[in-house]
Order: sequence, then C-alpha cells, then structure tokens
Amino acid sequence: MKSIYDFSLKELEGYFLSKQESPYRSAQIFEWLYRHRITDFLEMKNIKKTVIEEMKADFELESLTLVKEEVSVDSTRKFLFKLSDGNTIETVLIQHPYGRSLCLSTQVGCNFGCAFCASGQQKKVRNLRVAEMTLQVLEVEKITGLKISHLVVMGIGEPFDNFDNLLSFLKIVNYAKGLAIGARHISVSTAGLVPKIIEYADFPLQTNLAISLHAANDEIRSKLMSINRKYPLKELIKAIDYYIEKTNRRVTLEYILINNINDRPQDALDLFNLFKGRLVYVNLIPYNEVEGNNYKRSTPENTNRFFDKLKKLGLNVTMRREHGQEINAACGQLRDKHVAKKT
Ligand code: SAH
Repeated sequence: MKSIYDFSLKELEGYFLSKQESPYRSAQIFEWLYRHRITDFLEMKNIKKTVIEEMKADFELESLTLVKEEVSVDSTRKFLFKLSDGNTIETVLIQHPYGRSLCLSTQVGCNFGCAFCASGQQKKVRNLRVAEMTLQVLEVEKITGLKISHLVVMGIGEPFDNFDNLLSFLKIVNYAKGLAIGARHISVSTAGLVPKIIEYADFPLQTNLAISLHAANDEIRSKLMSINRKYPLKELIKAIDYYIEKTNRRVTLEYILINNINDRPQDALDLFNLFKGRLVYVNLIPYNEVEGNNYKRSTPENTNRFFDKLKKLGLNVTMRREHGQEINAACGQLRDKHVAKKT
C-alpha cells in the first residue's frame, strides 16, 4: 500500500481528479495529516465517507517506530527510528535559545565516505522516501510534545544525492497547510554535489544552503572528502557563486576543526583567500571524534588561533556550540552502534 505522506499536494490532487473528486480535497487532506495529525482516516470530519473508504483502501497512514532515545545534559535528544523495512535512521533534536531545531537524515547510510565521518562507515542502503523524512518531524513532535521551529538537513546521508525526494519534502514542511516551517528556518547541507547546488539555486523556496567545506585546499580536502576529487574547489566555488547570484542568499560554510590537519594558520589564510568578498559565513564546528580513524579534535589553542586569524582577516566567522557530545550526537554514531550490535 502507498504511504500517503509520500504524496505532494499536486500528486494528491491528481489522485482525487482520477477519482472524479474535487482537487481541493488535497489541501483538506494535508490539513488533516500535518495540522491535525490524524491517526485514522475516519477522523477526517469534512470528508465524505465514500472518499474516506477509498483512501483507506489506497493509502497507509505510515509511522516510524522509536527504537531508542538518548538525552544529553544540554537537553539534546537523539532518536533512533526503525523504518517499515527494518532499516534504522537517526534524528537529533537540538534545543537552542531561539527555537528547536531538528537534524534529519535523508538516506539509510551514505556513500560519500568522508574520512572523518561515522555515517560513511555504513554504505548507503537506499534513499529515504519523502514520507520517511517528513515523519521524522511528525514523530519527534509527537514523542516530545514540542513544536519544531527549525530544520537542518544534516543527519545521515547526502541530501543532494536524494534530490527529488528532498525538494518534495521541503515543499511539504514549508507549505502553510503542511508543517508551516518557514523556509528561512530550513537549511540543507551538502558535501558539495556541484550539479545539484546549481539546480538548488533555482528552487523557488527561500531555504538556506550549507556547504561542508572542511578545507580550502584541494589536497587536504580530497583526503578528507573523496567528492572533492570529482568536484574540486574551483568547481565548487563556481557553483556557490551561481547560487549566490541567483538567490542573493548567504551561504554557510561548515568547517570542522581537526587537529593539525586543517587548523593551521595557512589553512585559515587559504580559506580567506578563497572566499574573501563572497556572501558567505564560516561556521567552525568542533570535531566529534569517532572510532575507526585517527583524527583528533583541534586543541583549544589551535581552535582559537584559527578563529582569531579568520576574524582578523575579516571573514565572517562563528563558532558552533557543541551539542550532545556524550550521546554520540555526531552523524551516524548511534546508528553505527546499533548496526554493529546486530551484526
Ligand atoms: N552529507 C551532508 C549532510 C550530512 S553531514 C554533508 O556532507 O553536508 C552533516 C555535517 O556534519 C557535515 O558538515 C559533516 O561534515 C559533519 N560531520 C560529519 N562527521 C562529523 C564529526 N564526527 N564531527 C563533527 N562534524 C561531523
């Protein structure tokens, strides 16, 4: 049976038209699904019984199963969900002074194999469907009773490697009769899939773009992120420039600080030289050490030296406060443990 949460507003309109029903039903159904959060089609009071019966025959009201939840002292909450086919995914809720942000997964596993990342240790099994992305938000709101105000598409997987589902998902969460999360409160992070950055520039919603940069020198970046061999910095910069020109929106550059790998003064200088004058800001992120590699978190001295150097050079830079370190909030760590236990 099809999951109704996989359907875009348009696709649901198509369904109703094929049943000789008014396409306006589609928006009504969206309200029931995403505003009233029904658990049974019979709850849809303004929908004719005959239509409900047909929908019950055609669609499933899918849900995710919570396998495990971990809570950290700073109230970051990490959820491990089981999908209908038994695969597991992670979702992390981060509580900020300005709101509650959900970090979502887009794939089961990841094929990009970044050297520092725990997610890449489990190869991609498949893309998540639209429903499986949206349901991460619905389930976390249901479990916690909290309203999610911000979304960061930065969990397991490469969102731009699941592009069509991602865009469909973004429309549903942004739509007023969907989850009504403001586009400016939504950020998508990519390892640097250049052709998709260019396509994303034409996406009509004002959602944000973050690039996992992590090095401003091809040699270092290719060691850390194999995608850089396919799309080196020159290509990446061209795509970022195109995105900025098209959207006039500031791009976030994520930069994890790995001790003596990408945190030397020369690295800061490279970063400045590459991005000076561009509409970007650098978000420095403490590296969460993972088992299976030798990378270490930058020392406080190296971290401060890097931050100060960028500031002095005049690049926009912020330091990301760390969340939930003791609950393995770094991408893929909880799922890694879960998968390892089973095998
Ligand atoms: N594939 C996408 C989104 C998932 S990764 C991307 O690459 O952007 C989300 C962010 O977490 C990326 O910036 C990634 O580089 C970073 N990350 C991965 N492992 C990490 C770790 N162990 N510590 C800190 N950040 C990590």
